[in-house]
Amino acid sequence: MSRTAGVAQMPLRFSTACRACPRLAGHLQQVRETHGDYHARPVPPFGAESPRLLVVGLAPGMHGANRTGRPFTGDHAGIILYDTLHRYGYANQAQSVALGDGLELVGCGITNAVKCLPPENKPMPVEVRQCNRFLKAELESLPADGAILALGAIAHQAVLLAFDLRRADHTFAHGAQHALPGGRTLFDSYHCSRYNTNTRRLTEAMFHEVFGAIGRHLEARPQAVAPQRL
Ligand code: SF4
Repeated sequence: MSRTAGVAQMPLRFSTACRACPRLAGHLQQVRETHGDYHARPVPPFGAESPRLLVVGLAPGMHGANRTGRPFTGDHAGIILYDTLHRYGYANQAQSVALGDGLELVGCGITNAVKCLPPENKPMPVEVRQCNRFLKAELESLPADGAILALGAIAHQAVLLAFDLRRADHTFAHGAQHALPGGRTLFDSYHCSRYNTNTRRLTEAMFHEVFGAIGRHLEARPQAVAPQRL
């Protein structure tokens, strides 16, 4: 039986009007009342339509994506992420400040396992499952030899859920690589959060090593393979 059983049905096409998670919808309503200039709605993925690399974060940050409406834009976590994407040729500029700042991604997409801001940055398992059909559709846009970068264990687990894979068979570890059914490869990194970078759980060098591995992986597969359903 699918591990998504029990999740309420909703349209596959992502919409910023989605309210399928009552707790998160209520939380966003409160945020809109106190921060009228914030996006405070589900945050859509950003980047190429059929990327060879899809970066998967946890969820929008209160004053980052939840404010600006674009993943990892306008907060601390986005600083190291977009600087690294630029360094490795996936972005036309190193900063991501706000919508309309001219940022474009090249062969890369960025999304979150959960598209709505969760209280205390902690989505509930049912919310990860509820939002997983959107992530699954985004993963299906990758070519069969594409790469996925999971930032943190929850993003990693959400990718496994989309592929209907067991966690016990694919343990999260910084720098780990996991061959997925159909040819795609999952790369793991600690999340580039302020906490992780300030405590040096994740250093710039560690992050660059992961992107170096992804680059070598994709360079070894120069011919894009057509997307296929999971
Ligand atoms: S987290 Fe995902 S499924 Fe839940 S309300 Fe937001 S967009 Fe919809």
